[in-house]
Amino acid sequence: MNKPVMLTVAALLIVGSAYFLFKKKTKPVKTIFTFMGAPGSGKGTLAELAIKGLGYTSLSTGNLLREAVAQSTELGKEAQGYMQEGKLVPDTLVMSIINDWFNKNLSTVNTLILDGFPRTQNQATLFIELLKKFPDVSFRVLEITIPDEVIVERMANRLVCEKCQAPYSRKLLKDSSVCEKCGGTLIQRQDDKPETVRERLKVYEQTVSPMRNVYKKAGLQIDTIDAVSKTPDQLFEEFKQLVD
Ligand code: AMP
Repeated sequence: MNKPVMLTVAALLIVGSAYFLFKKKTKPVKTIFTFMGAPGSGKGTLAELAIKGLGYTSLSTGNLLREAVAQSTELGKEAQGYMQEGKLVPDTLVMSIINDWFNKNLSTVNTLILDGFPRTQNQATLFIELLKKFPDVSFRVLEITIPDEVIVERMANRLVCEKCQAPYSRKLLKDSSVCEKCGGTLIQRQDDKPETVRERLKVYEQTVSPMRNVYKKAGLQIDTIDAVSKTPDQLFEEFKQLVD
């Protein structure tokens, strides 16, 4: 091989390796899902199944906020009143709790499901902005659809563990007072009562369509799963097909 040819081959090898390393570095390695769906649509249960069956991590802003309320932190005290009335907690508080969590924990997870976040147009915009700091993240939006009246009935039957927040349906439980996972006491959340649920559904309807616009503008695809008359396992099967 003469010298010019050798130099050309060497140059091509260097450019090729640099390109390969660059692609490897910038290719998304983590997936973050957001599950959109009215309260009671089954997004929490689906998240649970994905954690158990696929090893995903779930992050529920509702749980983070409830923890903050239980621990009486400054943020918890500010959030409490909104939550008791079934209203959304202000975006500044929610973004602050998400920011903290991401800074402390994102490096330790592979696939994350955001349960109940982003929940407003502003949160969606701020979150897409926040993700620019994490180039190794691919963000996917999944919407679970179900009629309001089915949800009100479902929520009336929902119990959660006071200690570990595991959700249960009263209809499927043998003993409706004890958590099968940790032995904690099962309670009906204040915000699962029918009048609060109706208020939450109203809030959900008002916020979901501007959020879709934010995602569309950001070039994100919104996948949907129809949850009517589906068991949690059927919902999970559909989710797995979607992910594949
Ligand atoms: P969840 O457990 O997701 O149903 O949330 C319970 C309550 O926490 C809601 O009714 C809101 O008051 C509050 N909350 C949870 N997530 C958010 C969010 N992303 N933005 C505003 N408020 C939230």
